[in-house]
Amino acid sequence: MKIVILSFLFISLMSQADPIDADAVDTSIDKLSDGKWTVKYTVEKPVTKITFLSNPDKSRIERWHPLSSEFEVFYHKNQEYIARKDRAKFNEISLLLTPNYKHLPKDYAPFSPYSDGGILFHTRRFFACIDSCPDDLNSWKITLTIPNDNHIILDGKLFNSMASWYDKNDGKSVYVGKQIPVETDSSHTLIDAGLPEKILTSLNSDIPKMMDFFKSKLGKLPYDDKPTLFASYAKVNGSSRQGGVSPNQIYVHWNKNNLDTSVENKKFIYDTLWFFAHEAAHLYQINGHLSENANESWLHEGHADFLASNALKFLYPNSTDYINSKFNKIKTGCANGLQDIALVDAANVGNFRLLYSCGFLIHKGIEHAFKKENKNGQAAYIIWDQFRTEVKNGSEKGQPTFLKVVDKYTDKTISGKITHFINVKHGNPDKAINALLAL
Ligand SMILES: [Zn+2]
Repeated sequence: MKIVILSFLFISLMSQADPIDADAVDTSIDKLSDGKWTVKYTVEKPVTKITFLSNPDKSRIERWHPLSSEFEVFYHKNQEYIARKDRAKFNEISLLLTPNYKHLPKDYAPFSPYSDGGILFHTRRFFACIDSCPDDLNSWKITLTIPNDNHIILDGKLFNSMASWYDKNDGKSVYVGKQIPVETDSSHTLIDAGLPEKILTSLNSDIPKMMDFFKSKLGKLPYDDKPTLFASYAKVNGSSRQGGVSPNQIYVHWNKNNLDTSVENKKFIYDTLWFFAHEAAHLYQINGHLSENANESWLHEGHADFLASNALKFLYPNSTDYINSKFNKIKTGCANGLQDIALVDAANVGNFRLLYSCGFLIHKGIEHAFKKENKNGQAAYIIWDQFRTEVKNGSEKGQPTFLKVVDKYTDKTISGKITHFINVKHGNPDKAINALLAL
């Protein structure tokens, strides 16, 4: 491991940018010298309201405070908006943010604090539009300004004072603070030094091992630069843990104050390895989620858990008992959830855990069916690779394309059985699960 201090020059990334619509919203995020964070939205032509691309809940009302009392943040029909209270037109609005960790359902946490005061924030939270976000809008101009004693880490590069770029798709994680990234053989890392020793060791040795494992199965990541690994720890009351990936980025965060004692528990250590492996698997799935429909997230979440189980089995042979007990829990979790709803409705009712557990079992069922027809290889990698190739070549993202590929490698009745498993509310979920696992 060697410490690399990247160029401290301000590099404008604007030249690489996609052209932006004149009707778009300009976003300026400021970290002030007193540690406060603000965001300012500016539009060229006056507007009556600004809204957001991502609206997983209405927490901006509590956490984003207009600096002028003439404005308000409000929630209407599943969307958050900023407007003047008198609904007159305006050109700009500034808000004071709450830069601590906030869990958002099935979305990136806006801020992941480090224990030394650094912050990793996610840009997607800031993507804003005039009135409503049109489907074809995918370019977001962001300018970030920071105090002199901090720096920015953006796309693996280090900036002083400010950075300005066009963001797109699902956004990315950006670091602001004083910590210098470390370059390892497999990644750039920005790991919170306040994490317990056991977690630090695991981040530095297990994640690279997992990445190598998935690279050997799913191929090299399609980027010139190494991925960046962010790990942050807010030692506060709470019990949350979150992980996520953006292209060429992987991040994990803990929001709890008892990590020091948790690491003494063997199950916690295996849970953490599973968590790391799940996120590393996402990194190698590539092309975002390969599905844009939340009801289909069994596809990538179940797959990431299935790959995590695979990686643990291969890299940590002593984890067998843990994996077996985890499998039983997954089965019970899926069966319990399916008592009430069909899997296809899980996202609509906010039961995302069901998409992980039942998704795992679907991928396990496919693996079983694959083995009957194919002597070599594993469906989890071969079918996935073919699926993402087909999407890259223009097939539609999501379940139909995936199941078409499954049919190519198994007997042709499998996709129909899986679709039935997903769409139907089962009278006897245990029986349905056992049939799935015996595909
Ligand atoms: Zn996941």
